[in-house]
Amino acid sequence: MESDNRQSSPEGPPSYYWDAVAVHFSEIALKGGNRRSFTQRLRNNISAALTRYDAAVRAYHEKLLIDCPRDEVPRILKAAAAVFGVAYAAPVRTLRRDIQELIRAAVDYFRASASPGTTFAIRAHRSDKKFPHSSREIAELAGAAVCRAGGTVDLNNPALPIILRIFPEAAYLEGPHTPGPGGLPLGATGRVLSLFSGGIDSPVAAWLIMRRGCRADFIHFHTYPTGEAAQTSKIPQMVKSLVQPQGLPARLFLTPYHHFQAALMQQHVPQNYELILFRRFMMRIAARIASEHDAVALVTGDNLAQVASQTTANLIACDQAATLPVWRPLLAFNKDEIISRAVAIGTYESSIEAYKDCCSLVSRHPLTRPRLQTVLHLERRLPLDEMTAGTLDDTTQLKIEP
Ligand code: ATP
Ligand code: MG
Repeated sequence: MESDNRQSSPEGPPSYYWDAVAVHFSEIALKGGNRRSFTQRLRNNISAALTRYDAAVRAYHEKLLIDCPRDEVPRILKAAAAVFGVAYAAPVRTLRRDIQELIRAAVDYFRASASPGTTFAIRAHRSDKKFPHSSREIAELAGAAVCRAGGTVDLNNPALPIILRIFPEAAYLEGPHTPGPGGLPLGATGRVLSLFSGGIDSPVAAWLIMRRGCRADFIHFHTYPTGEAAQTSKIPQMVKSLVQPQGLPARLFLTPYHHFQAALMQQHVPQNYELILFRRFMMRIAARIASEHDAVALVTGDNLAQVASQTTANLIACDQAATLPVWRPLLAFNKDEIISRAVAIGTYESSIEAYKDCCSLVSRHPLTRPRLQTVLHLERRLPLDEMTAGTLDDTTQLKIEP
């Protein structure tokens, strides 16, 4: 359902005017047989995101309705509109199913939200065909009353859409829409493990995949001597900020880099092959952990040719070491697009905080076209099993609570 209520009035009715929040979803309504389970999942996820509030979410005629105390409406509106799967949320005022009441509500709403001369349109939706007035009649009667109160009709591009919905049990006036992220409710499309560096790209990649309904866990390779030390870094906070609006916990694996580093120091590896070996090492470890935790794919923030390590040849050499599919939602984005998305989802500031990432410790001048045969040859000289076992042993698992 497209929102045609993008306006926000200078004033609007006082917040206690509203007595509930309506949540509209778009895509999940399209998915045929899965619709019921998607709706149920969205309802559960919104409930989870609202646990700190006194709110009850119920399915209501192709949408969800959140009953809550009036003074909580603005906060609940904001929290509900951040949940994946939500097209938009709107405050609503419950009305009696009575034409005079509908007309009065339209006029009151116009007076509270607009000044004389403001353009408006009544959008009446009657899903109860037993109601004695058709949608058109409702719109005409309420429209005439709003004109008398100083409004100017503009059906195509009104400054103030006035939305009235009539159901068998009640009627509602629907207020300004807060757009949601769209997509699908978390958990609808499986579980993934996100390789999370704390840079600009990987948080955006994780967010995009989560928005498509994937429940994400996170793995971060760190340079700290212990997992406990890594817990004090910015990484757990960043993961929390991604997870929190969705109301569901996630796992964060904090994995040390030093076993790899130690192995590298004992062998002679040409510097320009170090990074590809490290990336393949990350893929291997991540795939192991993912498989143990029911994740079906790995997610990275790689972007084609953004840096030397992200050439086609390097990305393919990484895939070759992963035993699970590697999803790269940012592959085809431009950097400025990634940055604006990072700003929009609120991760940018933390991403640019100074941080010692292990990739910056490994050789900075990787080959753009590594030879796979050489890679495999060099890798055979490393004590792979030992490195892997030590790294898995020293991985710390954190539960990130929303
Ligand atoms: P980002 O902004 O996500 O750090 P980037 O453009 O800096 O990406 P790289 O540092 O080359 O590119 O990393 C590419 C991808 O590899 C990252 O997006 C991330 O998915 C993964 N990655 C890199 N470093 C780490 C790390 N320390 N822990 C986990 N994953 C990592
Ligand atoms: Mg990086």
